[in-house]
Amino acid sequence: MKEKIEIIQGDITKLAVDAIVNAANNTLLGGGGVDGAIHRAAGPKLVAECATLLGCKTGDAKITAGYRLPAKHVIHTVGPVWHGGGKGEPELLRSAYRRCFQVARENSLTSIAFPAISAGVYGYPMAQAGEIALHEAKAALESYPEFERVIFVLFNEGALRIYQETFKKIFS
Ligand code: ADP
Repeated sequence: MKEKIEIIQGDITKLAVDAIVNAANNTLLGGGGVDGAIHRAAGPKLVAECATLLGCKTGDAKITAGYRLPAKHVIHTVGPVWHGGGKGEPELLRSAYRRCFQVARENSLTSIAFPAISAGVYGYPMAQAGEIALHEAKAALESYPEFERVIFVLFNEGALRIYQETFKKIFS
């Protein structure tokens, strides 16, 4: 099961998978960070489809086509803004991951790539965010054998190391 999880450093917009996950905001109309990179790479049809979705609640996820991306779909999710951890942030981040897996399943997708949701501008500590991400991937793979690949794409080496350490802790 753990062989289905890959942890890599890179740019999520380059991946040819069934779906890449976007760490979006509640409007789904684009923003900075990975959201901006995904919209630039996908082209203007992406924001046009997003505008029909009427936003997304924190902890929820919605799917669109991938347009000019090599990925077939984008699953847009909204992680919590970090306010110190006592404002329901862990539950909301877990919910974001779970909803992404649910939406992927509903659409019969078997390969999915995630950025470090909430761990950029939204300020979630990378180690804690990575722990939730990997725990939820483990749970999803245990429940749903149809998933073939779950890829975590980290933008820099520091984040990559943190995820690799957490992976060892969870799977050893
Ligand atoms: P959030 O607002 O949810 O915190 P950000 O986009 O600010 O989302 O950051 C989420 C994570 O995505 C950060 O760790 C950031 O370094 C990373 N990131 C930014 N651009 C890319 C990209 N093209 N591919 C993968 N990860 C990216």
